Amino acid sequence: CFVVFGVANITAQNKAHLDTTKSIEERITLLMNQMTLEEKVGQMNQYNGFWEVTGPAPQGGSSKIKYDHLNKGWVGSLLNVRGVQKVREVQKIAVENTRLGIPLIIGFDVIHSYKTLSPIPLAEAASWDMEAIKKSAAIAAAEAAASGINWTFAPNVDVTIDARWGRVMEGAGEDPFLASKIAVARVKGFQGDDFSGTNTIAACAKHFAGYGFVESGKEYNNVDMSVSRLYNSVLPPFKAANDAGVKTFMNAFNTLNGIPATANRFLLRDILKTKWDFQGFVVSDWASIGEMISHGYAKDGAEAAEKAAEAGSDMDMESYLYVNELVNLVKEKKLDIEIINDAVRRILRLKFEMGLFENPYKYCDEKREKEVIGSASHHDGVLDMAKKSIVLLKNDNNLLPLKKSGQKIALIGALASDKTSPLGSWRIAADDDTAVSVLEGMQKYKNSPVTYALGTAVFSGKPTFTKELEINTDDKSGFEKAIATARQADVVVMVLGEHGFQSGEGRSRTNLDLPGNQQELLEEVFKVNKNIVLVLNNGRPLAIQWAANHIPAIVEAWQLGSESGNAIAEVLYGDYNPSGKLPISFPRNVGQVPIYYNHYNTGRPSNSENNVFWSHYSDVEKTPLFPFGHGLSYTKFDYRDLKINKTIFSVEEPIKLSVSVTNTGNLDGKEVVQLYIRDVSGSISRPVKELKGFELIALKKGEQRTINFTLTKEDLGYYDNGGNYLLEPGMFKVFVGTSSDQLLETEFELK
Ligand code: BGC
Repeated sequence: CFVVFGVANITAQNKAHLDTTKSIEERITLLMNQMTLEEKVGQMNQYNGFWEVTGPAPQGGSSKIKYDHLNKGWVGSLLNVRGVQKVREVQKIAVENTRLGIPLIIGFDVIHSYKTLSPIPLAEAASWDMEAIKKSAAIAAAEAAASGINWTFAPNVDVTIDARWGRVMEGAGEDPFLASKIAVARVKGFQGDDFSGTNTIAACAKHFAGYGFVESGKEYNNVDMSVSRLYNSVLPPFKAANDAGVKTFMNAFNTLNGIPATANRFLLRDILKTKWDFQGFVVSDWASIGEMISHGYAKDGAEAAEKAAEAGSDMDMESYLYVNELVNLVKEKKLDIEIINDAVRRILRLKFEMGLFENPYKYCDEKREKEVIGSASHHDGVLDMAKKSIVLLKNDNNLLPLKKSGQKIALIGALASDKTSPLGSWRIAADDDTAVSVLEGMQKYKNSPVTYALGTAVFSGKPTFTKELEINTDDKSGFEKAIATARQADVVVMVLGEHGFQSGEGRSRTNLDLPGNQQELLEEVFKVNKNIVLVLNNGRPLAIQWAANHIPAIVEAWQLGSESGNAIAEVLYGDYNPSGKLPISFPRNVGQVPIYYNHYNTGRPSNSENNVFWSHYSDVEKTPLFPFGHGLSYTKFDYRDLKINKTIFSVEEPIKLSVSVTNTGNLDGKEVVQLYIRDVSGSISRPVKELKGFELIALKKGEQRTINFTLTKEDLGYYDNGGNYLLEPGMFKVFVGTSSDQLLETEFELK
C-alpha cells in the first residue's frame, strides 16, 4: 500500500521506500540508495527555526541560508518551530520542494510540559509517584503534539549533588536509583507504547553525560570524575532510559575527563551504541560541536565536525558545521562515509517509526490544537501533579493545616502574588502571568480572609530567560506594611524563595539563601508574629538554616506550574495531605555543598563530642539541613518489625524483607517507604547508604500494613573503575524507613 503525500519531484522508481509492507530497515535502505551525499548530510543538520516561516522568503542573513538549505533538502530537523500553522509551513517545504521529500522532525524543549505547565522536574521527583510522573509527561506530549511538535528534548536525567548548579531544577535530584525510575516513567509518558496515535512524541535522554557534576556547580564547566562514579552515579538513568526505549540522546556541553561529551567516543560509541546497543540517534547540544574549538579540542570547524561525527554525534544542533564541513571531509577521505550512513540511518529510522513518511502532517491538526492545548483535563492533571510534588519540611505544633475559618491570615511576599514565576524556567510556549498565584488559590477559601502585603521584591526589572536578573537590596519600602499586616494576623503565610528564572540554564549561584531582602523581611516579620508558615518557591535546594531553626512550619512548593496556587492552598488548608519527599539534600550553608546522602565514609567517621579529629567542619553541624528522602505528613507513620527471611544468601537467591507501617495519626495519608542498603566492604569503598527500593502507600488513619521488598543481585552489585560490574560476597546492611536519616536496620551476608 502506497500512501504518497503531495510529493512533487519524486519519480516512480524512488517511491519504493513508501511501501509500508516492507520493513523499516528495508525502507531506509531503499531511500538511502537514492540520496546524494549532500542530502545525507542534510539529514544530520538541525536548525533553530526562529525565522518568519509564514511570511515571504527571507532575503538575507542566517535566515536566508537556513531557508535555502531547507528548500534543498539539507535540513533534517528544526527546533523551536511551534504551532500547527508554522509546522505545516516548514514541513510543506521539506516534503514538497525537495527532491526526495523527506519529512522534518520538529524538536522543542517540552521540559515541564508545554502550555499548561506542570511542576518543574525536580518538584515532580519529590512526589516519588511514578504513575503521576508518567501521566504528567503524557500530558506534556499531548499538548506539544497538538502544536505540531513531535520530539521533546526531555527528560533531563542528569544526576547532580550540587545545588549551586541552576539546572538542578530540570533533573530528578541526587540519587541514581530514583532518577532511573523517573527516567523510565518520563520516557514512557512521552513516547507511550508507540507513535501510532498523534499524542505521543519522541523523547531525548540528556545531557550525555556528566553535566550534573560541573566543577563548582558553574554552568558549562568541566567535569573530572572517576570511571566508577560515572558508571554508578551518572549513567544509571541514561541506561534506564535506553532500556525503556528512548529514541534519542543529547550530548552535554561539558568535557568529561578532558574530552568534550560531544566528541566522546567512549561515551557515545563504546557505551551507548555498542554496550547498550542504542538504535536511536544522538543530537548535539546547542552549538556544542562548534564549542569544541573553545574547549581546545578542535582547531577549527572542520576538525570539530570530524571529531563529533566520528565519535557518534549524529545530528548537529545549530553549529552549522555538519552541513558546511562533512561533505568535504568525506570527499577528502578524512571521514568514512559509513559514519554518515550510520547516522542517517538512525535519523531516518525514527522518521519512519513515527509514520512521518505516511503522513508528514500527522501532528498538524488545527482542530486538535484548539481542543487539546490548555484543556480542562490537562489543568486537572497538572494540579494533581503539583499537589503530589509538595514537601512538608517542618510543622511544629501542628501550625498546619490552617483553619478554614476563624483565623486571620496575613499573606506576605512578592512570590505570593506572582503569576509568572510558578511557571518555572522552561516555559517558552506559555504566556506570562498565566499561573494561579498563591493569593488567588487562598482566596478561594472564602471563610478565611487573607490580607496580602508584598513586602519586598525578589529582584528588580522584568525577568527573562536569557537576561541576568538584578538583585536589589536597597528597596525596603514594603517592609512596614508587611510587618503591620503580620502584626494583625493569627497566622502569617510567607511565600519566599527564587523566581522561576533564578534557576535553570545559565543560573548558577554561589549563595543558596533567599535572594534580595527576603531573609531580612522574614526576620523582621518574625519579630512581630512567630506563627509563620514559610512557603518556599525555588528550583534548587536552599540553605535556610535560620528559617529551619525559627520558623515553625515550612512547606517546599518549588515552582509548581500553571495550577501552583491552587495546589499550595489545598495543602495549606488541609484539603490535600502532603506526601512528597526530598529528592535532594538541603544544605545548611553553601560551604557544605556538595552534601548528599549516598556519600562515602572517611576513615574518621566518629562523631564523638570531644574529638575534633573526625571528619567535619568546625563551624557547622555535619548533617544536611533536610536530608534526602525527608518529608512530613499531617498524619504520623510508625515503622516497626523490619524482618528478613534469612541471614545468609547465595547470589541467585532473592532477599525478602518486610516492615510494618502504621498510620498512628488522625488523618488518612500517604507515605513513601524507603529501602537503602550498604555494602559493608568491597574492592572499592561503597557509599554509606544507597537507595534500592521504595513504595508509595496510602494508609487510612489507624491502618497498619506490612510492606514487602525483594532485593536481587541487580541491587547488590556496582561498577569498578574499569566499568566492570562486580557482585561481591560479604556483609550488607539494609535500612528501611521514612527518610534517609530515620531508618530501621538489619543485615545479611551474601555468600
Ligand atoms: C540546552 C538543552 C536544550 C537546547 C535546545 C541548550 O542550551 O542545554 O538542554 O535542549 O538548548 O533548546
